Amino acid sequence: MPPTKEERREALKAVYHQAKGCTSCPQLAATRTTVVFGNGNADADLMFVGEAPGANEDRQGLPFVGQAGKLLDTLLGEIGLSRPEVWVCNVLKCRPPGNRDPHPAEIEACQDYLLRQVELIEPRVICTLGNFATKLLRGDPTGITRLHGREEVRVIGRRAVRLYPIFHPAAALYTPANVEVLRADFARLPELLALDVPPQPKPAIEEAAVPDAGEEDPAGQAVPEAEAAGSPAEDERYRIEAERAAESGAEADADADERDPEAARELEPAAVQLGLF
Ligand code: SF4
Repeated sequence: MPPTKEERREALKAVYHQAKGCTSCPQLAATRTTVVFGNGNADADLMFVGEAPGANEDRQGLPFVGQAGKLLDTLLGEIGLSRPEVWVCNVLKCRPPGNRDPHPAEIEACQDYLLRQVELIEPRVICTLGNFATKLLRGDPTGITRLHGREEVRVIGRRAVRLYPIFHPAAALYTPANVEVLRADFARLPELLALDVPPQPKPAIEEAAVPDAGEEDPAGQAVPEAEAAGSPAEDERYRIEAERAAESGAEADADADERDPEAARELEPAAVQLGLF
C-alpha cells in the first residue's frame, strides 16, 4: 500500500526534525543560526531547488526571503501561482559562511535530505535554480547556461520527475537581462505541470522478490515478520518516521510551554517552517 498523504506529511516532519539537529558539516553547523529545511505545500506539484540559504534565510529559517525570493514570488505570480502552492528548498540546508559556494563534501552530506523531500512531496516538476542544484540532480557537470529552459525526465532518488533547470533568481538581480530569460523559462511551467506524471520506477521492494515470513532470504537469513511481504519495510519506515515526528512535536510543545510566548511563537516547530496546509 502506498503511503497516504498524511503519512507522507508526518514523515516529512520527521525528516525536518532530523535535519534540525544535523551537524554533518561541522563548519556550517557551528556558524548557522537555523537549519533552513524548506517551505511550502507538502503536496506540491512544483518544487524549486536553489543553492543554499543566505543571511536573511538563515535568520528567519525560511528559504528565499530576500530580494531573490521577491523576484521568485513575482515570477510565480505572473504564471498564476503563489508560494503556498509550491515547495521551495535548497541543496544545502545551512548557510555557508560569507555566502561562499557549497563544498562538494557538504553537498554530498546534505543530499539525502533533498532526496527524501522529493520522495515524500512527490512533485511532478522540479525546477532547479542555478548550477549547484542542476548539477546535483542531473548528476552531470553541464552548466545552467546550456541547460536552462530544457525539461527532461529524470529519476531523482526513487521518483521520476520532469526536471526543469532555470537560472537562479539571484543571478538575475545582478544581470537584469537575465530577468527576461527567467521570465520566458517560467512561462513554460504551466505547460509542464499540465503534462502527465512520468512513469514511475518500480519500488525496490517490489523489484527484489521479498520472501514470505519464515522463509530464508537469498543471504540465508530468516525474514522477520515485520519485513515480510504484506508488511513491507517501506511501510515500517513511514510509521517510524511518523512516530518520530509526533514525539518531536510533543517535545517541542513541552519546551514551548516553558518559554515566554514570544519566544515560543518564534520557535514554533515544524508547522511554521514547513508551512504545511
Ligand atoms: S548543510 Fe545539510 S548536511 Fe550539512 S549540517 Fe546542514 S543540514 Fe546537515
